[in-house]
Amino acid sequence: MYNIKAYAAAGATSGLAPLTIPRRDTKERDVQIEILFCGICHSDLHYARDEWHSVMPTVYPCVPGHEIVGRVTKVGSAVTKFKPGDLAGVGCLVDSDRTCPNCREGLEQLCPKQVLTYGGPDKDLGGVTYGGYSESIVVDEHFVLRVPANLDPAGVAPLLCAGITTYSPIRRWGDIEGKKIGIVGLGGLGHMGVKFARAFGAHVAVFTTSPAKREDALRLGADEVIISTNAEDMKKHAWSFDFILDTIAADHDIDAYIKMLGRDGTITLVGAPEKPLAVSAFALIFGRRSLSGSLIGGIAETQEMLDFCSQHNITADVEVIPIQKVNEAYERLAKSDVKYRFSIDMASLKAE
Ligand code: NAP
Ligand code: ZN
Repeated sequence: MYNIKAYAAAGATSGLAPLTIPRRDTKERDVQIEILFCGICHSDLHYARDEWHSVMPTVYPCVPGHEIVGRVTKVGSAVTKFKPGDLAGVGCLVDSDRTCPNCREGLEQLCPKQVLTYGGPDKDLGGVTYGGYSESIVVDEHFVLRVPANLDPAGVAPLLCAGITTYSPIRRWGDIEGKKIGIVGLGGLGHMGVKFARAFGAHVAVFTTSPAKREDALRLGADEVIISTNAEDMKKHAWSFDFILDTIAADHDIDAYIKMLGRDGTITLVGAPEKPLAVSAFALIFGRRSLSGSLIGGIAETQEMLDFCSQHNITADVEVIPIQKVNEAYERLAKSDVKYRFSIDMASLKAE
């Protein structure tokens, strides 16, 4: 065991502050990574503030961060995929049972014994796992991703969660080339959804509550922008979508988006608001529409996504910040004021 610097929340209203945390020594199959950049996901904020209390109560102190890119500093004797000096990534998962039917199909994120990068049971050190707002992390190589060298590491970090969470459901839905696809919410997930849908050849429309994001949406690859608070604008698009990805982090009228779908259309939720959403049966029945959910993606699919990004030169649009600005960044994230992901330059932690 060794100690490192990290940023942690001590309670739901405490904000984040420096804390020393332990990491395990490198075991046979482990990769030790010095963290270079860590993205700030809205899930970090939900969890640090205990907003998901009824589903997943937060264990404090909590060190968030599951969009990690870093450099390998040490590997265990049985590691084959990595060597010191390699760039590497870690997303939302650091372990699973690897024997259940989901794991065998490469769906580690759906394993009943999945261990999340933060807040999961730490079977080595006891207590809970600590995430990427820290100097380094030690992870079994199965859960470590190869990071393409041709991409900016600050913009790659958000791919490890925002990237795979949008890539996976869009891919799974089927061949979207030429189809009309809606992305609801232009935040961290939403802006990646626009980039992927565009790269797969869809006709992409962004639903946003922020008229000021219109130009950015078009620049990111949207064909059209719908201001969701404008009833007239919404009415014009009713019954017209094949697939909609809903990334909204807060309570909202999901029926309004279900009604945008055409016959047999699907809306997939990736946003995880604290409270249940009200769904009208009629909006689904009249139109034979489907409502589904999606959770990040498996490890092999995450690698596929990173390789796709490498080929198509796709990264997140990031605002790079020092760790000392993390509380300010959370305040802005809560107000949908980020373009379009904060990426923490972890070198700043050395100054603590
Ligand atoms: P984000 O950067 O804050 O983006 C969310 C966007 O939703 C905002 O930028 C805003 O876009 C829109 N929005 C926010 N509040 C709204 C409201 N009250 N009504 C309507 N629209 C609203 O967050 P994120 O990091 O993309 O995460 C989004 C959600 O996905 C979070 O709940 C997060 O926990 C969840 N998540 C799920 C998974 C998964 O595996 N399923 C993975 C990662 C994150 P506009 O300004 O364009 O309206
Ligand atoms: Zn996330």
